[in-house]
Amino acid sequence: MTSEKNSSLGEFQLIDWIDQQVGPSERLSLGIGDDCSIQQQQAGQDLLTSTDLLLEDVHFKRCWTSLYNLGRKAAAVNLSDIAAMGGTPQALYLGIGRPSELSDLDMKELISGFIYEAQLHGAELAGGDTCSSRAGLIIAVTVQGLVGQGSAICRDGASVGDAIYVSGTLGDSALALQQLLADEPVDDYLSQRFHLPTARIELGQMLSNKQWATAMLDLSDGLVSDLGHILNASGVGAEITLESLPLSQAFQQALECDADLIDLALAGGEDYELVFTSPLKDLADQAEIFSSVTRIGTICQQPGLHLRWSDGRIYRCGKSGFDHFS
Ligand code: ADP
Ligand code: MG
Repeated sequence: MTSEKNSSLGEFQLIDWIDQQVGPSERLSLGIGDDCSIQQQQAGQDLLTSTDLLLEDVHFKRCWTSLYNLGRKAAAVNLSDIAAMGGTPQALYLGIGRPSELSDLDMKELISGFIYEAQLHGAELAGGDTCSSRAGLIIAVTVQGLVGQGSAICRDGASVGDAIYVSGTLGDSALALQQLLADEPVDDYLSQRFHLPTARIELGQMLSNKQWATAMLDLSDGLVSDLGHILNASGVGAEITLESLPLSQAFQQALECDADLIDLALAGGEDYELVFTSPLKDLADQAEIFSSVTRIGTICQQPGLHLRWSDGRIYRCGKSGFDHFS
């Protein structure tokens, strides 16, 4: 890191500070401080690894959120990928491109939020990289998790007749983003859903432990697009009933004023809920954890995603999911 007016801490002093915040590791034989971390291999487990970038003015605006919450979200969206495979998070690696205006305190806030969210899910910050950036704030995260050998829930396992479920509610985050972009006041609940998504770790773990899900992923780009990945990978189609989409009260209120908002529940991004398929048709009535799971449709033979109202009318979604290059 080059020396800048906002940073009196040098790169290595900041790394020492991060190391102190993380504290001694239970699962790593070597954490922050060397060229690599070391984690002993566990027999009977598969290692899951995933990376996500969060770029200023692409994924977030700094004026919309505190750096602490941004740090939390950066960890949460990565942990969500581990949830989506049914895994247990282990280690996170945090790369930061620091623009010169960010003070030492800003950096500490960002990193503290990140560590808080990681620890909330039993994961730890195990390394990273810290550089100066002339292109805004860059956050690059790698996450690792473990899952029982052969038990990871992939995208390609959905079969005709499987029920389709989602956790939580859909569209809240996209509606908050729409309000933010329009400079409208944002409902507190929706704002929370946008800024502080929750990785559905426990649900993912339960589904892989019980082997109840045939295919799963986390909703980052919107249901239409993300469920589309399951359909393509599995070579099947899906029938979705619009009335069954789980919507929050705040979302329903907005929907009463503008019926087109249903497209945000279908194709808005950043829900970070899980969508999964299962041969079991009554999961929503199962143990406590499933109180937050809703059945939205069924896997069918005919390729594509078929959206219908319960009276049979076909619905065409006016939005497609998020694609960075289109
Ligand atoms: P290297 O020269 O091998 O890239 P660094 O000097 O960049 O090493 O980092 C020293 C140690 O500090 C490494 O263990 C690295 O993983 C850790 N580290 C650097 N930046 C971060 C960060 N933002 N978060 C967590 N650990 C970090
Ligand atoms: Mg480095």
